[in-house]
Formats: sequence, C-alpha cells, structure tokens
Amino acid sequence: PETLVTLCNHQAKIRGNETAFLFEDKEITYRQFDCYTNQVANGLIKEGVKEGTRVGYLAKDSICGFEILFGTAKAAAVLITVNWRLSAKEILYILNNGAAEVLFVGEEFFDVVASIAEELITVRKIICCKGTHGEYQEYVQWKEEQSSLETRVTHTAETPVVQMYTSGTTGSPKGVQLAHYSFFSLLQGMYAKGDAWMNLESRDTLLLSLPMFHIGGLWWAIQGFIVGAKGIVLETFIAWKALEYIEKLKVTKVAMVPAMVQFVLAEPAYKNTDFSSVTGFLYGGSPITPAVMRIAMKTFDCDFFQVYGMTETGNMAVCLRPEDHTIPWNEKMKSAGKPLPGVEAKVINFKHQSVPPNTIGEICLKSPSNMIGYWNNTKATQETMIDGWIHTGDAGYIDEDGYIFICDRIKDMIICSGENIYPAEIEAVLSEHPSVKDVAVIGIPDDQWGEVVKAIIVVQPEQEIKKRALINFCRGKIADYKIPSTISFVPSLPRNPSGKILKRELRAPFWKGLE
Ligand code: AMP
Ligand code: MG
Repeated sequence: PETLVTLCNHQAKIRGNETAFLFEDKEITYRQFDCYTNQVANGLIKEGVKEGTRVGYLAKDSICGFEILFGTAKAAAVLITVNWRLSAKEILYILNNGAAEVLFVGEEFFDVVASIAEELITVRKIICCKGTHGEYQEYVQWKEEQSSLETRVTHTAETPVVQMYTSGTTGSPKGVQLAHYSFFSLLQGMYAKGDAWMNLESRDTLLLSLPMFHIGGLWWAIQGFIVGAKGIVLETFIAWKALEYIEKLKVTKVAMVPAMVQFVLAEPAYKNTDFSSVTGFLYGGSPITPAVMRIAMKTFDCDFFQVYGMTETGNMAVCLRPEDHTIPWNEKMKSAGKPLPGVEAKVINFKHQSVPPNTIGEICLKSPSNMIGYWNNTKATQETMIDGWIHTGDAGYIDEDGYIFICDRIKDMIICSGENIYPAEIEAVLSEHPSVKDVAVIGIPDDQWGEVVKAIIVVQPEQEIKKRALINFCRGKIADYKIPSTISFVPSLPRNPSGKILKRELRAPFWKGLE
C-alpha cells in the first residue's frame, strides 16, 4: 500500500479480526476500523467535503481521532490536527488560516469553540466527537447514519492528507502539508534495502503516548498500522498510566519525547514495573541529557533509537541506532545519529555553500518524506525548501563519519516539554503591558522540561510591577505553557548596533557548561 486508504483496505482484508487500536476498555479490529472510516468518509462527503477540503480535529487522542484521520483521507480531504494546548486565539487563527469547513471537537473544548464560534469564518459544521470517556454520542449517531461502503474518491501517494501547524519566528503558525507518501516512502525504501530499522511487525504492541497533533505521534501510530500491530491509545500522556499499560498490556515498542522519558523515570512506580516486554524504545524531538539516557538505558534494557527531524521533513530523517547507545558514553551519543537510508544531509554557511566536516552551519535535510510545502504560503515554502532541501533552522555540524551534531537553534526557539515556543510571540504580549519598557524572552535549562521560558524585563521609569501581575497579564493571550516561569528585572537589555537584542549574551550565564 502507498496511501492510508489502500493501507486500511489491505489490513481489513488480511487481518480483519486482529486488534488495530485499544483505548481504555475499548478494542477495535482492523475490519471494524475499515468500516467506521468508510462511514466517516461518506458522512463528510454528505456534508459537502470534497477533494482537498480542510477538516479540523480539536480533541484529545482516542480511537475516534484515528477514525477521523483515515475517514478524512478516504474522502480525499485534509485533516488539520489542532494542538489543543493552544489558546482560543491561536486555535482560531489555525482554523481560519486552513479554511476548515468541518470541525470535530472534544467535549472539553466546547467552551473554547463557543468563544470563537462567531469568528470562525469557514466552519459550517461542528461535530462533537469525544467525551471524557471515549466517543461522544453525537459522533456515534452521525457515524451510524452513514453508509459503510467504500468511497469512490481517487487518491495517489501525492494527495495531501494532513496539515499540521508549526509556529513561525514571526508568531504566525504555518500549515505544513503532508501527503500520504510522508508516512510510507522512507521506511519502504529502507526495507527494500534490507534495513529493518526497529523491526516493527504485526506481533508488536505500540504505546501511542505521543499526541496525534504532533507529527511524531501521528507518524508513530501510522507505522504501527502499516505493519498491522496493535496500538495502545493514551488520551494524553500520564506517566503512571504509561507504566501500567507497558506492564499489563505487554507493550513491545515505545516512543516518547525526552520530557516524557523524564516523567516516567520520576514516577515512583517505575522501580516496580516489569519492562521485560519492551524490545524497542524510540525517543527524540528535542535534546536529551546524558543523565536521563543512562537511567533509561539501564531501566528498559532494550534497543534505543534516537530520531531527529521536523514536521517539515515528515518526521524522522536522522537516527542514532542501538549500536551507538553504549555505556560508558561514546562520543557519538552526543549526536542525533546519521541520516537514514534515502535521506541526504548537509551543513551550509550563510552563503548557502556546503561546509567541510566538523564545521558548524545550518543543517539541511532532503528526505523522500519531506512536506509538499506550507499551506498558502509560497514565500515561506521557497525560503524553507530549496531544491528539495529543508533548511531546518538548526545549527550543527556533521563529523567525518557522517554523524549529525545539533548545537543550537538558529532562530532562538525554546523547546519546553517537546513544545516549540517562539520568544517573539511572548515578547509581543509582554510588551503590551503599560509598565513594560523593554523585554527579552529566552529559554533556560530545566531538569524536568528541557527548557523553560524566562522573561527579562526593563520597567518604565518611575513605575513598579509585580512578577505575578505580568504572569496574569499573559493568561488567555498565549497558551499556558508559553507563560514565563521566571521573570527578572534589569536596567537595560544588551543590543547590537542595529538594535537587535543580544540573546546569546542573555542566555550565556544560564547555559554555562551545558551548551
Ligand atoms: P517540530 O516543529 O516539532 O517539527 O520540531 C523540529 C525541531 O525539533 C528541530 O528543528 C530540532 O530543533 C528539534 N529536534 C528534533 N529532534 C531532535 C533531536 N533528536 N535532538 C535535538 N533536537 C531535536
Ligand atoms: Mg517546527
């Protein structure tokens, strides 16, 4: 198969009675899943959804989220998976920018949607899909009214299927359009070359603890589906639940971002958990500290795979394999690994010329899974994807053996618990406060979250302001996780001659010895 549609039909035929997904006490077979996704597709078509129509999904994870994903694909429409941790304003921007016509929404987000309903320009149908304990009755009823016959819409591997928003440095998120091939081509190419990578197979049970609104989570779930494995869906990540599922359901393959790995290892129950079923552990998405890795490797005692990539590369492009995960530490462990077969990587200087090994520059990646482009944003697409190369915005170097080392983020992005945070957006909000004269936002290292947001503020002369008041000022204007966790006051901010704040200088004292 080379599309989600042909894949779904194929699995229903060859393993119809096997479990596709398990969520709390509900299991669904590949045959049932195929039938329900046909119903979703037919229902969408009845609502006027056509090829390329955008459909929004704003809910926590559950089986119906995957039904809606595959159902949307079967209608040749495109699913916008919305990060539900965003503020109402950000959600509104995404749904309007993507011109979503149908919106599936979970019960806990009714209020958010109600607060923006009048400003949602293109949405003409809202379907409540998920309650606190699984499917919402409205969705079930809507689904059951629809035909379960296959749709007659045509698709190819190049048809766009999901659109995921990633924040820009300017603060406006961009819609990354991914086609079916982004979920198939890389691994199929590797298998064809005899590279079994993580050895995913139908006997596997995958823990789906990464959210489906991030490419990592969606991609991982689909990889399990491709091999006909069983996917254990978590509504949202909770460390003790993840541990309980691993032991009880004998999970064999796990995928987490570094912050989740830390939460698991901080959960007292982990010491009594039986991890013997786990054979493969995938992690990545942000840097991980050696201390955490050492404990994780001892605890799980299985094959570890670090991946590096971005939404724009259709998830992973670079991988650090088990043979490079050694105790004691080897030099390569500080890298993100080597490009996967089929992927090309290079490092360029500011003149866009390739640089020799061990020279720092911008990392560029060319993968068969790379995005189609940003939605309705030719300029950003042309700047980011040049001759098929994604310019990652990450600063790093490649050593003589081809290992990629990531040093810094060119664009000052902060990654807190796997979420990308762009300082400019927070600076914009804080600078609106009447007592704030100048502001800079940086990421500072944090054991638990990787990085946390710190605001450095210059107060207007003769004025006073409490830290708490500034934090309250941010509430509702930006997502909670973007609100600064620490604030300090300074008489002035260091700037270069052209007026740009010297972020490096501000960051340096916090990152001493860590960078
Ligand atoms: P996203 O917007 O979620 O696609 O995030 C992509 C960014 O996450 C990359 O450009 C990197 O800065 C960062 N990232 C992803 N994987 C890794 C990794 N294994 N190590 C360090 N940083 C990573
Ligand atoms: Mg990004």
